[in-house]
Amino acid sequence: MKPSSEELTKILKERIGNLFEVVSVDNCNFKVDGKPGHPFTIGPQHIAAANAGYNTGILDERVMEEVGCAFKGCNKPLSDHTNDTGLFVKLTRHSTNTEANENLAPVKDLLVKHNIGIAIIETPEKYRIDADTEVTSE
Ligand SMILES: [Zn+2]
Repeated sequence: MKPSSEELTKILKERIGNLFEVVSVDNCNFKVDGKPGHPFTIGPQHIAAANAGYNTGILDERVMEEVGCAFKGCNKPLSDHTNDTGLFVKLTRHSTNTEANENLAPVKDLLVKHNIGIAIIETPEKYRIDADTEVTSE
């Protein structure tokens, strides 16, 4: 089972090299039927179905497949909604490709296993990862 975003964030913060500051693990690039869209939206009808139809009170994937998305005009099942997952990080200094790879090595298997991409967030310092030539410090 895939760990929650909070669990993944905690693990990645512990393991990733100090070149990177982990901000979060979040879902992004939401799509509906493969086109840019929105996350599956829960509405009162889902709560009602969970309580009535299944008598569980639990919102599981079965409810979200049979009771369409509550986003205005959508009404499609959960399976028509997809997204990517990103590890959002900030660079803590300028670096080289080699150094960046070394800092990512402890988390690479985890990122591959859970199909998580990396998104680098710009900082005011505008740190960069450059080719493996000498890094100039400012
Ligand atoms: Zn929808």
